[in-house]
Amino acid sequence: MSYTLNNKIKDLKPYDPIQGDYKIRLDANESFLAIPKEILEQFHNAVVQTAFNRYPDPYAYNTISAFARYYGVKNSLVTAGNGSDELISVLMSAFLMKGDRVITFSHDFSMYRFYTTIIEAECIEIPKNQDLTIDVDNVIKTANKIGAKMIIFSNPCNPTSLGLCKESVRRLISSVDALVILDEAYMDFWDQSLLNEVEQYDNLIILRTCSKAFGMAAVRLGFAVANQTLTSIVRAVKAPYNVNTVTQAFGATVLAQKEMLDKGVAQLVESRKALFGGLKQLELEYPKSLFLFNSCTNFVFIRTLYAKEIYEYMLENSVAIRYMGEYLRVTAGTVEENTEAVRLFAQFLSQRGA
Ligand SMILES: *Cc1c(COP(=O)(O)O)cnc(C)c1O
Repeated sequence: MSYTLNNKIKDLKPYDPIQGDYKIRLDANESFLAIPKEILEQFHNAVVQTAFNRYPDPYAYNTISAFARYYGVKNSLVTAGNGSDELISVLMSAFLMKGDRVITFSHDFSMYRFYTTIIEAECIEIPKNQDLTIDVDNVIKTANKIGAKMIIFSNPCNPTSLGLCKESVRRLISSVDALVILDEAYMDFWDQSLLNEVEQYDNLIILRTCSKAFGMAAVRLGFAVANQTLTSIVRAVKAPYNVNTVTQAFGATVLAQKEMLDKGVAQLVESRKALFGGLKQLELEYPKSLFLFNSCTNFVFIRTLYAKEIYEYMLENSVAIRYMGEYLRVTAGTVEENTEAVRLFAQFLSQRGA
């Protein structure tokens, strides 16, 4: 007897983030802020009080309520997930049938394409404009022509750091029959969220996460927000106990700290401005070598002829950033981390005589 792997999975490789002991990690868009001591104490109490022998609340009621209060949306429109990553997978398996067409953009978050492969949907990748903006009219036209069942994209975008304004997103949603999955993982850093309008659409699901702006990537907590009909389906198709009790408690605790969260977001934005400013100086000095995209996020996206060399140079100096073909993505860090990253960029460019 011999077992044969099926075609859709046989060539897959496990997700491989940068591993190793780097002094400075600016490669995964995480927050550099630590959870304050008072909150850690509340985490501690939550752990001690957890009934570990019992299953979690399948609806994560307290967590969802804290989320809803923070953003001013209704509880009944929110579903919690084991990170928004899990929700992407759940939404695709629920709302798509084998062979259905899904529109993604290039470049955008790589997991979208990955999950379409697993469920055997057809992924149609629409290239972005030269300047990495989205041609909304073209997307609408294509979606309607090919009968797309889903359009999924991040706004603001990871990796480009660019944002699409509300008005354009609204136009896109209301001009297509496809279900639009709007991944607002970085929207805490920008002000063009559609969260408060979600009920006006019958084809919109918004994703949010605690992993980026709220500094809880380790906890694994994300949310899907949609109208009542769609929310009922999402709740029905997810695994009943997808969010563990500890994550629910930590999430509810942190999301109740509006002041702390707002202050944290402001600090991350300040940090990104500083990093952007430092790199912008270098762009002015070496206009042929670096091009910065405007950022609506907590990272800076750069086009450079020396992407691979700079990436390796940074690693040699114990700074991890993200390398993607002709681009580099650098997450905003502490003042010291940003300064070191900019210093290494400068050193590389001057040595290279770029
Ligand atoms: C980081 C990221 C996510 C994943 O968030 P988790 O909640 O940690 O799974 C989703 N979408 C985009 C665009 C991201 O950059």
